[in-house]
Amino acid sequence: MVYNFIKIGKVLFLTILLLMEIGCNSISAKTAQGKLVVNNIPVKVETNVKRETPKGICPVNPSNGKIHEIAENGVTTKNTPDAINERTQKTLLKEKEYGYRNADKYLTKYRDNNLVRQIILVEQSTTEICAGKLFLLIKNEKGEWQEHLQCKAFLGKNGINKTREGDAKTPTGDFGMLMAFGAKDDPGSLIPYTKLTETMYLCGDREFYNQFIDVSKVNHICSGNSEHLIRYIPQYNYALFFDFNKENVYGKGSAIFLHCAGKNPFTLGCVSVSEDNMIKILKAVDINSRICIYAAK
Ligand SMILES: [Zn+2]
Repeated sequence: MVYNFIKIGKVLFLTILLLMEIGCNSISAKTAQGKLVVNNIPVKVETNVKRETPKGICPVNPSNGKIHEIAENGVTTKNTPDAINERTQKTLLKEKEYGYRNADKYLTKYRDNNLVRQIILVEQSTTEICAGKLFLLIKNEKGEWQEHLQCKAFLGKNGINKTREGDAKTPTGDFGMLMAFGAKDDPGSLIPYTKLTETMYLCGDREFYNQFIDVSKVNHICSGNSEHLIRYIPQYNYALFFDFNKENVYGKGSAIFLHCAGKNPFTLGCVSVSEDNMIKILKAVDINSRICIYAAK
């Protein structure tokens, strides 16, 4: 009797293992590339491979985190003797003025610009190359910058300072806003919001390079170099398209967004934050806001 129970148990165990194996196979079959036709236009079904590779960790930032550290609950700067020697007194004063390292030039630049009411700072961590902090600052009645939001942000797998398409780096610099979009309903975005449909792409082809297009309205078929936006879920549940490579120089880089984080702790060139924070940002920034991306030192 006991022997029979063991035998039945073994058979059940092996059956479960077999079913698990079949389940895994069917998932990978679904995610394989295939063809789909939308409004009689052949469309290449893309997996999330371009946006995020399935495995990986954020590499250590070679600039080293010994001097500066970003604390979880606030901006803190380690003032070890070496660190103080390394930074000039002038830099220390500037840090005291605003509290955002290396963001002074942006905060000063837009302080007296009445059009710019919000600024998103994305500061790369010194300990990880593809992570950092996002700060959302809003001008108060006195015209002073006030922090509205601070959250974790993920950056390109290979860090920042983007130079070309496919380098998996996030661009560095000061950018304006183009549009908001997403697969989900408009959460109350201040920037005009486009809800994604099956025919919307961020084109990677020469003809409409780095442009958001609806292929049902233009005479063009997007190649596999383009992003079929609605396929990137949850990343494009909500997204902000900012004006990196606004001249649309072919090969310089395309489809760079602030969007919702996927399962990996990095992007392939965008900036990502949690979906909750993405909603907060969309509700707070208008079309004249800026996004500034920079290294912490
Ligand atoms: Zn295209």
